[in-house]
Amino acid sequence: MATRIVVLGAGFGGLELTTLLSERFGDALDLVLIDKNDAFVFGFSKLDVMFGRQLPDTVRHPYRQISKPGVRLVQAEVRAIDPRARRVETSAGTFEADILIVALGADIDQAATPGLVEGGHEFYSVPGAFALRDVLPRFERGAAVIGIMGKSFKCPPAPSEAALLLHDYLTTRGRRAETSITLVMPFGTPIPPSPDTSTAILAAFAERGIRFIRDTLVTGVDGARKVVTLSDGSELPCDLLLGVPVHRVPQVVVDSGLCDGPYHWVPVNKQTLATAFPGVYAVGDVNGVGTPKAGVFAEGSAQVVADAITAQLRGGDGPAPYTGRGSCYIEFGEGHVGRVDVDFLSGPKPTGTFQGQSESFVEEKRQFGASRVRKWFGA
Ligand SMILES: Cc1cc2nc3c(=O)[nH]c(=O)nc-3n(C[C@H](O)[C@H](O)[C@H](O)COP(=O)(O)OP(=O)(O)OC[C@H]3O[C@@H](n4cnc5c(N)ncnc54)[C@H](O)[C@@H]3O)c2cc1C
Repeated sequence: MATRIVVLGAGFGGLELTTLLSERFGDALDLVLIDKNDAFVFGFSKLDVMFGRQLPDTVRHPYRQISKPGVRLVQAEVRAIDPRARRVETSAGTFEADILIVALGADIDQAATPGLVEGGHEFYSVPGAFALRDVLPRFERGAAVIGIMGKSFKCPPAPSEAALLLHDYLTTRGRRAETSITLVMPFGTPIPPSPDTSTAILAAFAERGIRFIRDTLVTGVDGARKVVTLSDGSELPCDLLLGVPVHRVPQVVVDSGLCDGPYHWVPVNKQTLATAFPGVYAVGDVNGVGTPKAGVFAEGSAQVVADAITAQLRGGDGPAPYTGRGSCYIEFGEGHVGRVDVDFLSGPKPTGTFQGQSESFVEEKRQFGASRVRKWFGA
């Protein structure tokens, strides 16, 4: 019987892993890919949709387009995971695995910040970002705050991008003079591993009159008084909150015993991404390997697991140690995109090299997305 590999979550990590294994083994494997949604959406597409640069339908990549040797896609909710038995209960039945991959990402927890649901907006979920497309046109004057509510959050450049794109959006609509933009961030600089990138972003903020409040979290929202509370106890006027909610481990993963609680990402072997349970790996945002939560790192960790599984099934050397390297594109506004190349695990401390910002990176970023769609969806 073919080895059965069950992949939980068809995001950046799950799609990359399934694609690589299908390319290498084809029908010789029984690959089951499970996701509760019917389509994949890139993280950066959330910004494109909320600022009216793309239509919601054009950024959804339906899973039904996937047709790969050995791969069966199941649209179902994962309800329980038994990592010891490598058994998964879903809304579409029970699946037993020889090798189990948990790639369920990071969940956001809006309820963790008092007043957020009633008095603010978030742009980190697909529904939240898409809903903002209809909210932003009504923001004509007052204070906009882009506020981060927890220290560990996906795509650290995204809040800075949101501030710069909001500036463009309001400028185009002739509303910039009547509005202010403040970014509240728990770091000392926008991109801590890359001083050059941070300097460029802070210069862009200064040119555009965007205020940057460092080393601070948004801890509460009072929609009636139109203020947000900050972690230093002060308040900030806020007519429009674009929030980055607290991130947490999905509850089904917490319940499985793969981690120690909602704020403890799944511990893994840094070299192989293996969990403490034999035959169970954790890929992408859900793990605590020490890289930022971003698609490029989810993809990189999937490549390591694909190599580990290949070595296990075919014999041969195991994977090279996971380096935590990747390139992130950053929207600077005014049609410019920057790129930072980061390396989180191969040296004594994380490093990042800023490659500059220009119109040429716009095309490179477009290619980044298009090549993944071609590879994962065969389109
Ligand atoms: C605004 C924004 C901009 C971003 N920009 C970038 C960028 O430019 N570059 C970049 O590299 N990264 C970017 N990211 C980050 C990137 O989107 C994530 O880090 C990446 O998607 C993580 O991949 P993953 O496979 O770990 O998880 P995900 O891609 O989140 O996939 C997890 C999957 O699991 C499924 N799932 C969860 N729970 C269940 C369940 N119980 N049952 C069934 N299915 C379930 C979900 O539906 C989802 O499809 C951005 C994120 C945001 C929010």
